[in-house]
Amino acid sequence: MIHPIVLYRSSILRRVSKEISEDYKDLDMLISDMFDTMKLEGVGLAAPQIGLSIRIFVIDTSPLEEDDPALKDFKKVFINPTIIEETGKPWLFNEGCLSIPGVREDISRPQKIRIQYYDENFRFFDEHYDGVKARIMQHEYDHLQGILFTDRLQPLKKRMLKGKLMAISKGKVPTNYKVRIEK
Ligand code: ZN
Repeated sequence: MIHPIVLYRSSILRRVSKEISEDYKDLDMLISDMFDTMKLEGVGLAAPQIGLSIRIFVIDTSPLEEDDPALKDFKKVFINPTIIEETGKPWLFNEGCLSIPGVREDISRPQKIRIQYYDENFRFFDEHYDGVKARIMQHEYDHLQGILFTDRLQPLKKRMLKGKLMAISKGKVPTNYKVRIEK
């Protein structure tokens, strides 16, 4: 099932999400719903974006495989993740977000991460990533912390976006997918 996307300014996007346990109800269905919903127009989706304040995100970098063959078939579920460290020189990458339609900005983040998480079978992993893969994880992980990529813009850039963000928060933005605003 494809879920409507919660838009910018909804309070759930500002909450720190809660960990889940292995017996979380209908977890398999939720994960498959998240992949279906992400396919609308994204390479990553975090649970708060469909209205659930829980620590889970999914990524699928296949749409970016033209830029880098290593991104082909890289499809993963992250449950209760923690980014243990971020290292390497910060670099700019153009980010967008299903919850902030029509806005894309170059965001600076460190190149490498070490991330601990559980997969869909609740197996534990402790891994290192860099480049675009790390970048998508950093963006999605931020969602679980109540942070949006626009928070990471320079103040001037942020001011320039104010009108656009205001329109989005009122739902006045064209999208190819269903959206909702949660007070
Ligand atoms: Zn996002």
